[in-house]
Amino acid sequence: MKRTVLLNPGPLTTSDAVKQALLVSDICPREKEFGILMDSVRQDLVKIVHGEKTHECVLFVSSGTGAVEACLTSLYEKNKSFLVINNGAYGKRIQNICDRFEISHIDLNCEWGEPVDLIQYESLLEQNTDSISAVVFVHHETTVGILNPLNEISDIAQKYKKTVIIDAMSSYAGIPMDVQKNKIHYLISSSNKCIQGMPGLSFVIGERASLEKIKNLNPKSYYFNLYENYIFQKEQKQFQFTPPVQVLYALRKAIDEYFEETEEGRFNRYSELYKSLIIGLKKMGFHFLVGEKHHSKLLTAILNPKDPKYNFNDMHDYLYERGFTIYPGKGTKEGTFRLANIGALCRKDIEEFLQHLKEYFIKFKINS
Ligand SMILES: *Cc1c(COP(=O)(O)O)cnc(C)c1O
Repeated sequence: MKRTVLLNPGPLTTSDAVKQALLVSDICPREKEFGILMDSVRQDLVKIVHGEKTHECVLFVSSGTGAVEACLTSLYEKNKSFLVINNGAYGKRIQNICDRFEISHIDLNCEWGEPVDLIQYESLLEQNTDSISAVVFVHHETTVGILNPLNEISDIAQKYKKTVIIDAMSSYAGIPMDVQKNKIHYLISSSNKCIQGMPGLSFVIGERASLEKIKNLNPKSYYFNLYENYIFQKEQKQFQFTPPVQVLYALRKAIDEYFEETEEGRFNRYSELYKSLIIGLKKMGFHFLVGEKHHSKLLTAILNPKDPKYNFNDMHDYLYERGFTIYPGKGTKEGTFRLANIGALCRKDIEEFLQHLKEYFIKFKINS
């Protein structure tokens, strides 16, 4: 199989072993053997964020957005609002889901790519403390490559006794996290980002005590009912609905590879890839949307070159033909393109990518 290097923010380049894990004997997902596999995946996904003692994993058959929807539609409370932080497209998506389901929300909107104004955040919490039930935000805002300050945001939420719900889609398993220390009640991610599995599953890692309390809320979704899926998975050791069987086997393999690499190992590898990428891009004269201090080191939004000959699609196609996939920017005031450095990648991939990128600009005489 030809190996391709995906620099888009998911689905990512996977290892050969994860791809091979998809090829398994047909099995009914109601069999005990599959239940054991599912249970081990649920437990290990919690272990990755050190929540064994306090948290439980609920799996969903969907892309990541499904699990976000599950949380919002299952955790909202009547006559209460979510405080939603928005500094990129995924924060905006949380607000859109709330609107679609007529869930009340108070917004902290920042310019996309700007760090969260913590003073404004706290004053919103203070002013609306009676009506806010939970704070919802994106950890790594993948639209712009900004890392929102998890501890600062959750510490302040705790001060006002608010539930913390985070979309950690593209940071889970890429950046060390501890649901207890970071005071996260609900963490959301999916199988195809930094855990390096195949797309098709999403999950919520929820605090057990909090999950037990949502039983009497009034969920707006049947399929994405967080509590019912939780109880079913925990008690029956089965999915409530048909799972993508093979994707779960691949996820099992991806989790094994994560533990082999270790939490620190993966973080360090991603950081090294980021460093090589950033150094190369700077040498070529590129500039970044977000100040380096706020870079997630997982994905970088790069300002489009000013040269009128520059065209993203041409650049994309040139690189794609050579086995490298890059990603357009989204919704920011200044035009960008994006490069993620997550997935089963190594230093050589980045070096080869930079070489092709450089050649492209030279060959077509475009100023980067
Ligand atoms: C990828 C991603 C999502 C989910 O996108 P899907 O296409 O539904 O998988 C949500 N939030 C963030 C921050 C993401 O990076």
